[in-house]
Amino acid sequence: MLLKVMNKPIIIYFASSNKDKLTEIKSILLQNRLSKNIRVTLAPKGFSVNENSNTFIGNAAKKAKTLSKKLKVYAFSDDSGIEVFALDRKPGVKSARFFRNGKGLLEIVEKVKYRKNKKCCFTCAIVFSSPKGKVLFKTQKSWFGMVSEKPKGKNGFGYDPIFIVPGVNKTSAQISSRLKNKISHRAMAVASFVKWINESYKHLTK
Ligand code: IMP
Repeated sequence: MLLKVMNKPIIIYFASSNKDKLTEIKSILLQNRLSKNIRVTLAPKGFSVNENSNTFIGNAAKKAKTLSKKLKVYAFSDDSGIEVFALDRKPGVKSARFFRNGKGLLEIVEKVKYRKNKKCCFTCAIVFSSPKGKVLFKTQKSWFGMVSEKPKGKNGFGYDPIFIVPGVNKTSAQISSRLKNKISHRAMAVASFVKWINESYKHLTK
């Protein structure tokens, strides 16, 4: 008789309170076949840290390490934003604050309208840390595109309506979430995280 040996499952906490991001991350984790021995759970309600680093990795590390140390658990976090080349890569790490219910998005469109350089990218950093707050994995990926002439599309969130996806000539709010989750900055970063944790989790349970 063949006995199926189950590995001890590990629980990893996602250090974020952004529901849109969590929804995207969950479906990307599934698409990338996260091992069934790894269970993902959300940080307790109200968890937040002062995201005052000037790098995406710095902010993601701060969130993951703070939650890890607080609950003595494995935790991962993502930090992301849009970088507009004609605006010296702003708003960058300040994208969430700059958004202001969509005003920030319109401000970018206006500022870039008469500029020759319409290049921009979405960037996503992911950091995973141990219960003692030691960074065990980090990655950062960018998805390059162009700022559109006006906001278009209803899918996605944040700056999706003004990000023209290369080769498709639609904004990331006009493409399906399935496609976005295959090609985006977050898709690339999460794919690399899943590859690492699927290979490493056995060592984490020891
Ligand atoms: P934070 O990572 O929670 O600091 O927030 C990042 C902010 O960047 C979000 O609130 C969005 O405004 C923006 N952002 C990050 N990723 C995306 C994306 O995939 N689409 C649209 N906006 C994004």
